Amino acid sequence: MAKFEGYKDIYVFVEQKNGEVANVGYELISEARKLVASIPQMNFQVVGVLLGHNIKDKANDVIAHGADKVIVVDDALLEGYSTQFYADALTQVINSFKPDSFLTGATVLGRDLAPRVAARLNAGLTADATKIEIDQEKAKDGEALLLVTRPTFGGNLFGTIVCPDTRPQMATIRPNVFSMDAVDASRTGEVVEFTPEWTDTDPKVIVKEVIAKVVEGVDITKADILVGAGRGAEDCLDMVQAVAEELGGELCASRAVVDDGFADKAIQVGQTGKTVRPSLYIACGISGACQHVAGMEKSDMIIAINRDPQAEIFSIANMGFIGDVKEILPLLKDEIIAAKKG
Ligand SMILES: Cc1cc2nc3c(=O)[nH]c(=O)nc-3n(C[C@H](O)[C@H](O)[C@H](O)COP(=O)(O)OP(=O)(O)OC[C@H]3O[C@@H](n4cnc5c(N)ncnc54)[C@H](O)[C@@H]3O)c2cc1C
Repeated sequence: MAKFEGYKDIYVFVEQKNGEVANVGYELISEARKLVASIPQMNFQVVGVLLGHNIKDKANDVIAHGADKVIVVDDALLEGYSTQFYADALTQVINSFKPDSFLTGATVLGRDLAPRVAARLNAGLTADATKIEIDQEKAKDGEALLLVTRPTFGGNLFGTIVCPDTRPQMATIRPNVFSMDAVDASRTGEVVEFTPEWTDTDPKVIVKEVIAKVVEGVDITKADILVGAGRGAEDCLDMVQAVAEELGGELCASRAVVDDGFADKAIQVGQTGKTVRPSLYIACGISGACQHVAGMEKSDMIIAINRDPQAEIFSIANMGFIGDVKEILPLLKDEIIAAKKG
């Protein structure tokens, strides 16, 4: 008998709020597609799990983003996020369908929900994963063991965690860590409606009012071009900002710049800041510490400006300028202006 009889497929929690699906669910579905493609012999599917109220019509979007099947739990108790009802419903879904692994976005909601469900199921969970693979040796024996990598010891090391003894293997992954595949509206898939059995419909927590966070400035996770300021550019942030503006991009910063009080935490990139993956990231006076790199290494093109030729940032950059940011940034700005005119 197989070690985990009946457990199959990679499930993804598709987070939605007011009917709007968060991109992270689609990013995880895209990554799950790559994982199942790496073990074709196991015939695994990618299954989306959608919880909410009046959200059935979103199931086809989830399929268009790469799911083979979507389990929809549509119930008035799931109208807004409730730890109690979401955890109850999701635990029942997992107990009924037996996913081999279960991926959730490391969002505020996902960080609340996934550990609670894992504890109820006595399943292993790896939080804040940055890379997920399947052990190909184990796969030969019919086991889809996830190798889940995440930063550890303050981001100075990366550890790969396995959960060989329990199912599902659970993991949370921050938004923007994985890329989202193109939508294919012609995809077809199965939609399964699941009705939870509520043992207790009295809410333990009553939300009296939701106060929307006032977001000041831009959301750097959505920017296509980012110009990052490090400690080496702290005293010329106006130059960094000017280059960002000429490129139609946004300014972001390393933690050093935030800690030194020159930038708001909202624009910090890195392990304790935001994860970004713009098409262009220009790192100005940033050393390339692993905690910073963890938040921007998936950028399509990285250009580094640093006066130290040995700076770590050059090891991940596609292109580099060795020199003083105060000399290079004005030249870069002029070149951009000239290129735009020409
Ligand atoms: C638990 C933990 C979490 C962390 N999380 C984050 C995080 O989320 N994000 C983050 O960024 N960091 C984070 N850090 C901090 C991280 O370790 C580094 O200290 C930080 O990224 C360094 O920022 P920096 O590169 O701007 O500054 P520095 O390391 O001081 O580097 C400045 C660079 O600028 C260059 N330079 C100086 N002057 C010039 C000049 N005139 N022209 C050109 N180059 C110049 C220098 O050669 C140097 O390479 C974290 C650390 C820990 C322990």
